[in-house]
Amino acid sequence: MSKEKTKKLQLAFYWAASCGGCEIAVLDIDEKILDVINLADILFWPVAIDTKYKDVENMKDNQIDICFFNGSIRTEEQEHIAKLLRKKSKYLIAFGACAVNGGIPGLANIANKKQVFDVAYLDNPSLDNPKKIVPKTSTKVKEGTLTLPDFYDTVKTLDQTVDVDYYLPGCPPTPDQIMTAVGAIVENKLPPKGSVIGPLKSVCDECRFEKTEKKIKEIKRVYEVDKIEDKCLLEQGIICLGPATRGGCDARCLDANMPCTGCGGPTPNSLDQGAKMISALASILGIEGEEKMSDKEVQKLIDQVVDPVGTFYKYCLPSALINRKVIK
Ligand code: SF4
Ligand code: SF4
Ligand code: SF4
Repeated sequence: MSKEKTKKLQLAFYWAASCGGCEIAVLDIDEKILDVINLADILFWPVAIDTKYKDVENMKDNQIDICFFNGSIRTEEQEHIAKLLRKKSKYLIAFGACAVNGGIPGLANIANKKQVFDVAYLDNPSLDNPKKIVPKTSTKVKEGTLTLPDFYDTVKTLDQTVDVDYYLPGCPPTPDQIMTAVGAIVENKLPPKGSVIGPLKSVCDECRFEKTEKKIKEIKRVYEVDKIEDKCLLEQGIICLGPATRGGCDARCLDANMPCTGCGGPTPNSLDQGAKMISALASILGIEGEEKMSDKEVQKLIDQVVDPVGTFYKYCLPSALINRKVIK
């Protein structure tokens, strides 16, 4: 066997605007982590090993074989490291819903930096901030100048920042999805560049409930339903994003009688996950005669969805066709 063939894979992991769940998901592969360690060296993983940005800066270009990057991009530092890791990695994988489609941090695109800072540092009832201090990129102290990375107005996906080779969606990706990706890498069976590593089917295709095309008259939240019946949640009036979401998770939320909230991202060939779900919902709501409805009746229908952006774009606002609120 040639020296090249026996060389261990060189891996890196990084988190940007992330909750840390994707990092834990890597550990959730349990004892299989030992197989990964047998096959690979981990060159950079800030959450688990003591490596510094300088170590990455000192690497040769493409020295990292695969970089798993989780989290969206909302600060100058995250953008800088995304660009650095892109340069140092042969393959860059957007790992988890935040890196792939912006994720839950991407919901901040309904606000701007000032509004986010006002809520986080000024208006929060649990705060004690009498001097109204908010983070600044530069602060002079007697010892010198302290700096912080700039916080952007808009949250971006990884591929709105750098070129991405593969996508592994999920919030977080499941251990099976991670091992499928690792297997494809190790066996050199990666799909074409730009692919989502996952099935082409939707969550509905993996769901234990059958859809019967039954129309509904009203929308309910899970807590408003006395008893969840053993049938499609959408047909019980509960918004379930299964029809608009890529499968691969074995419809795990449905196994717990909870609706899919869409973390797998849009189904293949879908331009906008939220728009697709709104269209699916409109067809099941039986509003064919909407042109005959009064404005009041339409508004009553719309008002049933308590949080439209958080419902239809929970994980994908930055990658949606309309990806932020314009604030003047
Ligand atoms: S995809 Fe989910 S688990 Fe991963 S960092 Fe984002 S919020 Fe956390
Ligand atoms: S809409 Fe939800 S509950 Fe109904 S089949 Fe699809 S995934 Fe299952
Ligand atoms: S059912 Fe939906 S929300 Fe739940 S894990 Fe699967 S894709 Fe994510």
